[in-house]
Amino acid sequence: MAIATIGAGALIEMRQDAFARAQEASSNLSLILERDIARNLEIFELSMHSVIDSVKDPEILRLNPAIRQLVLFDRSTNATDMGSLLVTDEQGNLVLDSRSTPPRPVNVADRDYFKVHHDSATAGLFISQPFQPRLTEQAQSIGLSRRLSHADGSFAGIVVGTLRLNYFRRLFEGTKLGPGGTITLLRDDGIVLMRRPYDPATVGRSIAASASFAPLVQAPEGSFVGIAALDGNERLYDFRHVANFPLVVVVGLSTDDIYAEWRKRAWLLGGLILTLDIAILILSILISRQFERRQAMEEHLRLMVNTDGLTGIGSRRALDEAADIEWRRAWRNQQPLSLLMIDVDHFKNFNDHYGHAGGDDALAAVARCIASNIRRPGDYAARYGGEEFAVLLPNTGLDGAIAVAEKIRSAVQDLVIPNAGSANRILTVSMGVACAEGRARFPGLRFFFNASDEALYKAKSSGRNRIAVAETRPEIQAHSEIPEH
Ligand code: GH3
Ligand code: MG
Ligand code: MG
Repeated sequence: MAIATIGAGALIEMRQDAFARAQEASSNLSLILERDIARNLEIFELSMHSVIDSVKDPEILRLNPAIRQLVLFDRSTNATDMGSLLVTDEQGNLVLDSRSTPPRPVNVADRDYFKVHHDSATAGLFISQPFQPRLTEQAQSIGLSRRLSHADGSFAGIVVGTLRLNYFRRLFEGTKLGPGGTITLLRDDGIVLMRRPYDPATVGRSIAASASFAPLVQAPEGSFVGIAALDGNERLYDFRHVANFPLVVVVGLSTDDIYAEWRKRAWLLGGLILTLDIAILILSILISRQFERRQAMEEHLRLMVNTDGLTGIGSRRALDEAADIEWRRAWRNQQPLSLLMIDVDHFKNFNDHYGHAGGDDALAAVARCIASNIRRPGDYAARYGGEEFAVLLPNTGLDGAIAVAEKIRSAVQDLVIPNAGSANRILTVSMGVACAEGRARFPGLRFFFNASDEALYKAKSSGRNRIAVAETRPEIQAHSEIPEH
């Protein structure tokens, strides 16, 4: 999960980076386009202004037409993609024409760039709808026009300069944008003047009604993600109003293009992370299974070592461990600890009479008797060896130990397992009881065991099927250390 989270974080960051880079690129491009367009239109407008100033000067108008042409129209009006610079009278008839003297016999009264100034004195600089020039066979153009007024302010005609849309087309098509990228030049009322990719059908169309047009008129520049009005694709748009002209340049980068490279990397990285995660998962499962198997094996071994195979109670080894722990604990806590040593009476005879297998069964029965008569937590029964058993009784005084021993003794007797080799004809046990308590201590665990063993032999020699208590050595109780084993 950590690896997947880190991978997802990296992918999110890469995606944001891709978007930021696209934003930067589109912003730079729109800025450069805006500067280029503004500069060229400004030069064009300067020529128009010089014509406006000149036509007000009677001296210039009186000049010989060829000379006047040179004074009125500088060479910039002949630059590539510049059309004609024209002056009309009140009726729209050409009176001055940068391309011809005398002016070509044309009337432009039906053009929008004429009508707007004819009808209003405050139109200022007007940029026309795209149109097909009628003077030449040239490509579509737009006109930039200004009004000429008489001294009293009444309409005197217009100055119009025409510009081929080819200029914008060449400008836009020289840039690299990705297959889904667009550049659009709009009049600020939504009329498309040029669009890359070029499609004659879109030139002159209005996108004023589309949702992606509204943000364009709300700020001088900006960027947003929107759906294209003309082809319905999602794009990151960066727009800029052309300084001093009612025009907007819009650069659109397709979001598909922006994220194309990222998407490829995301698949690759995602695939790698997934593979790695699956590999780690499989490995973890295998290791954990192996670990569980090992744990089970260890548990099994532990049980095997600590359990006596024949009787199911503790083994000699486990008894030694338990005795060591309990001996230290009892000493530390000044609590009593008792030990019963149990030996089956005349068992050799039992074996001889009933066979070894019958002997084994009898031993198991005796072990069950012992186990069922020790109930306290901490009590521990084990097979000490052969037909001998030992029971550890922590925190149990001599009286308690004798009581437990007596219960076991009578329980074995109550089994009434016949033993032909015994005096009373049934299987019985003898027991030696030792108790380390208070002043009655032993110098070590070994002495404790020996004492209960001695007691056991006492029980044997005094008639069997009975309990004998070990003698204690009160003289060593002054030692504060844990005595040796
Ligand atoms: P005593 O009353 O004095 O204890 O007499 P005893 O015959 O029990 O004497 P001893 O303790 O010396 O006898 C031990 C016998 O127990 C020897 C062997 O025949 C038998 N024995 C020891 N371990 C096993 C065992 O695992 N299975 C069986 N069937 N018999 C065992
Ligand atoms: Mg024995
Ligand atoms: Mg015996």
